[in-house]
Amino acid sequence: MKIIMLGAPGAGKGTQAKRIAEEFGIPHISTGDIFRANIKEKTELGMEAKSYMDKGQLVPDELTVKILLDRVAKDDCKNGYVLDGYPRTIPQAEVLYDAVTKLDDKIDYAINVDVPDENIIDRMGGRRACVKCGATYHIKYNPPKKEDTCDICQSNLIIRDDDKPETVKNRLSVYHEQTQPLIEYYSKQGILKEVDGTQDIDVVFEDIKKILK
Ligand code: ADP
Ligand code: AMP
Repeated sequence: MKIIMLGAPGAGKGTQAKRIAEEFGIPHISTGDIFRANIKEKTELGMEAKSYMDKGQLVPDELTVKILLDRVAKDDCKNGYVLDGYPRTIPQAEVLYDAVTKLDDKIDYAINVDVPDENIIDRMGGRRACVKCGATYHIKYNPPKKEDTCDICQSNLIIRDDDKPETVKNRLSVYHEQTQPLIEYYSKQGILKEVDGTQDIDVVFEDIKKILK
C-alpha cells in the first residue's frame, strides 16, 4: 500500500505516519527527517537544505526529488510506504507519479490531515523532538513520561529550529501557496481522503484505519 500524508506543517502527518507504518508494516519516509539526518552528519546536502529550512522555505525540488526517488527505490519499499512531507509541490507530485507509473503501480491514498491555521501555532510551539531517534512529542497533547526526555531512547528532547514562531508563520504561508494545491491535484485523481486532524491523536488514527481497511 502506497500512502501520501498531506496537511499543513504541524497538522500531525508524522505522528499518524509512524502509526500507519507500524500497523501496516511499511516504511515511514519523511523527507524532513532525511534532511535533518544530513544536517546532523554535516553533509553537503544537509548544509544546503539547512539554509532553506531555517528560513521556513522549501528545499528546492532538484535536491528533494532525487532524495525521495533514491529512498523509494530501496528494497524495503517493495510492499509500499507512507510518505510524510513529500510531495510539497505539484512538480514533486508529478515526478512521483511518473516513477510509480513506470513500475506499473499507483499511489493508493492521499490522506489530508485537516487542521486550521489557528491550531497550528499551538501545535508547533509545543512540539518537542528527540535529538537521537527523532520521536515527536507535544508538551500538552502528547507529553513524554519524563519531562524533556525521550520515552524510547531516553535522549534529550529539543525544540526544532524551524518551530520558532517567526519561522512557523513563514512555513504556513509557503504551505498555502505551494503545497495546498496538492489537495485538488489528488482529488482530481480520485484518491484524496480527508480526516479531521483537530481530534485527539487516537481518534484521528481510528479514522485513518477506517479509510485504509
Ligand atoms: P507534522 O508531521 O504534520 O509536521 P507532527 O506529527 O510532528 O506534525 O505534529 C505536530 C505536533 O502536534 C507534535 O508536537 C505532535 O505531538 C502534536 N500533535 C499531532 N497530532 C495531534 C493531535 N491530533 N492533537 C494534538 N496534538 C497533536
Ligand atoms: P517537515 O519535517 O516535514 O516539517 O520538514 C521540515 C522542512 O524540511 C520543511 O519546512 C522544508 O524546508 C524541508 N522539506 C521537507 N520535505 C520537503 C519537500 N518535500 N520539499 C521541499 N522541502 C522539504
